[in-house]
Amino acid sequence: MNIFYAPPSQINNGFAELLDQEAIHASKVMRAQEGDKLTIVDGEGGRYHGVVRRITKKSVQVEIEDEQHRSRPKPHFILAMGIIKKRDRLEFAVEKAIELGAAQICLFRSEHTIKENVRMDRLESLAISAMKQSLQAHLSTVEIYHSLEMMLDSIRADKILVAHEKVGGDKGNIDYESVSNAEKILLLVGPEGGFSETEIRDLTDKGGQLVSLGPNRLRAETAAVAFMSQFL
Ligand code: SAM
Repeated sequence: MNIFYAPPSQINNGFAELLDQEAIHASKVMRAQEGDKLTIVDGEGGRYHGVVRRITKKSVQVEIEDEQHRSRPKPHFILAMGIIKKRDRLEFAVEKAIELGAAQICLFRSEHTIKENVRMDRLESLAISAMKQSLQAHLSTVEIYHSLEMMLDSIRADKILVAHEKVGGDKGNIDYESVSNAEKILLLVGPEGGFSETEIRDLTDKGGQLVSLGPNRLRAETAAVAFMSQFL
């Protein structure tokens, strides 16, 4: 099933309008024709089924026949990750975390961050394609913070879990019962160089629980995927 994205501002009076990349994708890549049926999501829980009525160079207009609206599934997962150097690995982690249900991605610079620049435009379009790919109707946000401290000051969560390879033990140690009542869960993964001791102390002082993802030392992007998968 092919899903297209149109934010609520492009859905009016029974019509949805695909613009820019979405219009190109529908008309040029998928070769949609007038009369074809399409599904559109608005990124805020709305899912629309309709018929293509008009295709121009810049837009595809779809008459809506049916719509459903759902609120975002709970709990709300926030994946926070130290910025990693290789762009493709960072993008892999963001894409997979969204497919696995992260509502919010927070990238932060930490003591062991090597790279500073992140292409937010690429991550934002990746968030749209990951939402569509995984047939979700809610668009995940991607945010960037200048430090771990700034991120922790602005995110409110009922539960903070910190993936830390030095916890030890052959098995994971997530206490699923304590997590099950939480509405907002913040999962943290360090960059390539891991968290510094000071950062680990600050995180535990703020109530963060250190979590093992098993005996193997995982690359940061693998840890992000493994961490999200614990809650499927
Ligand atoms: N500090 C190490 C180093 O550079 O030698 C490794 C850091 S690891 C590549 C990057 C991040 O992945 C860690 O900060 C942690 O959040 C997560 N991670 C990797 N393996 C893990 C494991 N077995 N359990 C929990 N977290 C893990």
